[in-house]
Amino acid sequence: MSARVAIVTGANRGLGLEVSRTLAQRGYRVVLTARSGEKAEAAAEQLRAEGLEVEPETVDVSSDESVDAFAERFGARFERLDVLVNNAGAIFDGTNDRAQEGQVGVLGVPADAVLQSVDTNTLGAYRMSQRFLPLMNEGGYGRVVNVSSGMGALTDMGTGWPGYRISKTALHAVTRLFHGAAHRGVKVNAVCPGWVRTDMGGSAASRSVPEGAAGIVLAATLPEDGPSGAFLRDGEIIAW
Ligand code: NDP
Repeated sequence: MSARVAIVTGANRGLGLEVSRTLAQRGYRVVLTARSGEKAEAAAEQLRAEGLEVEPETVDVSSDESVDAFAERFGARFERLDVLVNNAGAIFDGTNDRAQEGQVGVLGVPADAVLQSVDTNTLGAYRMSQRFLPLMNEGGYGRVVNVSSGMGALTDMGTGWPGYRISKTALHAVTRLFHGAAHRGVKVNAVCPGWVRTDMGGSAASRSVPEGAAGIVLAATLPEDGPSGAFLRDGEIIAW
């Protein structure tokens, strides 16, 4: 059997890079994608220096054209897809400095920032899943992992970072919808990696990058009797 193929979005740094590293170490053929081709190449080069072979590619998940063009290039080279990690994400509500000034609350963040958040964090996964779930369904095997956040849980909403929170709550709906469209053998889950020391999480976060990536890799490599249509942290089901 040929090696399993994985696509990881937003993989030039942080959690996406670590997930790519771990899957490559486990023998997956990893297509490491970034919205900048140069950044994808630089990240791939970093992993090559560690003796890992990954394939750099360019995808901006906020662009239909970019996702379509990538899907076409992918289809010309690969006949299967086993893992899709929708990891790319960004915060549009404001900076940590603005948070300290109390500027990223629901009463202050403009609707446009919410729209931008949804375009990348929610519709990025939507676009990618729409293009790639059919290939998994055809193959009868697949693991889609939508990298979400506890900040998207309705049970823990608070009042700040509304764009980010709403985009991740909506990502949970995207997870359930594509779970409904998945055939036998294909699992679609959302994962909270915990609070992780990346560019996004900041240096005060409680988890290292490998610790955060581990829960994503667990969901990407779930056994046949693992959950689907669930929200997971460290492999355990948590409340939406
Ligand atoms: P980083 O900011 O380190 O990485 C985010 C990645 O997403 C970068 O590679 C960035 O690329 C990429 N990206 C942003 N927008 C796009 C786009 N339109 N198309 C393609 N790639 C894009 O953050 P993390 O590694 O921490 O975040 C990874 C995921 O984990 C995100 O979905 C985030 O919401 C989630 N998460 C993180 C937590 C944390 O504490 N760190 C907690 C909970 C969830 P570029 O370099 O070009 O900007």
